[in-house]
Amino acid sequence: MIKIENLSFEDLEKSLVELGEPKFKTKQIFDWVHNKTVDSFDEMTNLSKLTRDKLKNYYEFTDAVIELKLESKLDETKKYVIKLEDGNIVESVYLKYKHGNTACISSQVGCKMGCTFCASTKNGFIRNLTAAEMLKQIYLIQKDIKDKISNIVIMGSGEPLNNYENVIDFLKIINDEKGQNISMRKITLSTCGIIPNIYRLADENLPITLAISLHAPLQKKREEIIPAAKKYKLPELIAACDYYLNKTGRRLTFEYIMIGGFNDTLSDAKNLSELLKNKLCNVNLIPCNYVEESNINPSTNIDIEKFKKVLSDQGINATVRRELGSDINASCGQLRNNFLKK
Ligand code: SAH
Repeated sequence: MIKIENLSFEDLEKSLVELGEPKFKTKQIFDWVHNKTVDSFDEMTNLSKLTRDKLKNYYEFTDAVIELKLESKLDETKKYVIKLEDGNIVESVYLKYKHGNTACISSQVGCKMGCTFCASTKNGFIRNLTAAEMLKQIYLIQKDIKDKISNIVIMGSGEPLNNYENVIDFLKIINDEKGQNISMRKITLSTCGIIPNIYRLADENLPITLAISLHAPLQKKREEIIPAAKKYKLPELIAACDYYLNKTGRRLTFEYIMIGGFNDTLSDAKNLSELLKNKLCNVNLIPCNYVEESNINPSTNIDIEKFKKVLSDQGINATVRRELGSDINASCGQLRNNFLKK
């Protein structure tokens, strides 16, 4: 059986033609699956019963449900624990910004990257998500908030560039104008720096925003908190970023978690300015969230502002990520971990 949500418009068309169905049905079926986001063939009322029954023999829907929802009392953030068909759970977050309704989605169940500050990786890696399971996170959130998602950040659990094909399929389907038609320009993919796949992504030439989890301006320090940095070294990472920039013309984002006393000194700020000098980029300073399992503490607001000023003085565009949903564990795997503990 084929999971129907995994098929791009072209793949669905090909598949339907193979079954002897006329091409025009592709548009109808794709619309049911990706716009009306139904969960069964019987809801496809513009198809005959005969066709619907035939489709059921070849395709099935991806089952995913909201198992738990937490709503912030401080802002409009909502955090979801989503249960997948095999009983695994992932987290997704809805964040309301002035510029639009944003969904933060997971790309894997767990994560094998082992970053010291991140809760997603504390219980190890289980499996990749399918494109359908990424789409479902968006569709479930839309149904829940009764509104359209306009922006997507792939910044939930998992390393998206270690689930490359499924993430690309997801991007193509969510962007399809016959489906949700979410602009690539409103999608951000965050990676800890899987270099070969940054090159691959650059060559796809999709106008998404690439965010690099940099977190330290020097190789030695970066390795201490991001184990993958031992393999994917800083100079090569920066070279891959430059390639991406040249190829796509898209401004890069560098994410930088501010960990008190570790990477937030003025000399860190100077090293970071040196590294990113004259690059078309934004630096996103992220006050690190406290994670129970790790022994790290956030930087003070004063230190963050001082750090930011060093960057601005060097002409580097830096913003501090506003914390949303802090009362509902809205960061990177915290909720899933608490849920698993119970
Ligand atoms: N694996 C990808 C995407 C998931 S992490 C990556 O590494 O980019 C998404 C973002 O959340 C990253 O920038 C990550 O470093 C950040 N993050 C993880 N743990 C955090 C914490 N405790 N506090 C603040 N940000 C965190």
